[in-house]
Amino acid sequence: MSFETRAMVCAHHHLYSSLARGMQAPAVTPHSFLSILENVWWKLDVALDLDTLYWSAALGAAEALCNGTTAIIDHHESPLAIDGSLDVIADACSMIGVKTNLSYGITDRWDGTTLHSKVSPLSPMTDGAARGLRENERFLQSGGRGMVGVHASFTCSDETLDRASSLAESMNTGVHIHVAEGIDDKEAGARLQSRAKDNWLLVHAVHLDRQLAGTIVHNPRSNMNNAVGYANPLRFSNDVALGTDGIGADMLEEARLAYVRLREFDVMQSPDTVWEWLQTGEKFFPEIVNDTVTWSYDKVDSPWHVAFTPGIRCVDVHVDGQLVVKNGSPTQFDMTEIRTKASEAAAKLHKKLALT
Ligand SMILES: [Zn+2]
Repeated sequence: MSFETRAMVCAHHHLYSSLARGMQAPAVTPHSFLSILENVWWKLDVALDLDTLYWSAALGAAEALCNGTTAIIDHHESPLAIDGSLDVIADACSMIGVKTNLSYGITDRWDGTTLHSKVSPLSPMTDGAARGLRENERFLQSGGRGMVGVHASFTCSDETLDRASSLAESMNTGVHIHVAEGIDDKEAGARLQSRAKDNWLLVHAVHLDRQLAGTIVHNPRSNMNNAVGYANPLRFSNDVALGTDGIGADMLEEARLAYVRLREFDVMQSPDTVWEWLQTGEKFFPEIVNDTVTWSYDKVDSPWHVAFTPGIRCVDVHVDGQLVVKNGSPTQFDMTEIRTKASEAAAKLHKKLALT
């Protein structure tokens, strides 16, 4: 029995959404998953500029670190501030001291002026998608650790999916893509079957109708919040990792939630299943073996204990031997300053959103 574990990985995050908390409710109450995208997230992402993004990423990374998460796989979109956006996230996370795997989620839903919620597979690749692809390529070629991001099949043409897939292959990495998160993307399995590879990250897979190559990332809290249904990741033989889809990066909390959601579906399951999911993300950050977390509970290495002990706090974090969180507070940056700057950026962002 131990107070200590390895540090955590969040296998799917959206650091650009850290400032969304507290924003004004949309004028129209969303009635479906697609409506949530249209009225909330696709308004937020076009309101982002690079300065806002920096503080959003810094806040998300700081909160991750203070929850014992030292590595984040992020999926980013800011359609009106694409160029250089991955460097901005990388810089913010590096200032905080969190490891990252970054990608820009390309999409054809923006043709420059108009939003198209669903895109025909036969349409040509848009300029917006081409710019997103260039951002992925630029970042990867400059030595950044990442993947090629794609928003989702239903907002991309076949040409765009093929270009993303080819770029990933040429850069020796995978594609990080939302897959059948809602019913609106139920064709994802058919669209991706011939394209997906073992090094792809298949995020959500709630309505996925067939086995695809890749690692599935399960995001139970987000799926419940968007009422898209239970993903039941065990119906596939893929490796399964855990993500938060942008709702913080408290992975012990996400694992506890994943466990009760799993049990609600199958009462024969044990917490060990979910703890395996928690560790799958480590394959993207081999160096995380050198990061440790000390928690406020003395049996934190036992899944059966953790599953039934809400409120376990992260006390200390060591990254590669260096103490970066001590008694819950970061040692390498000023959390008050990060929160102050993030609040200022959030006020600017919320004001902009109120005008849309
Ligand atoms: Zn997501």
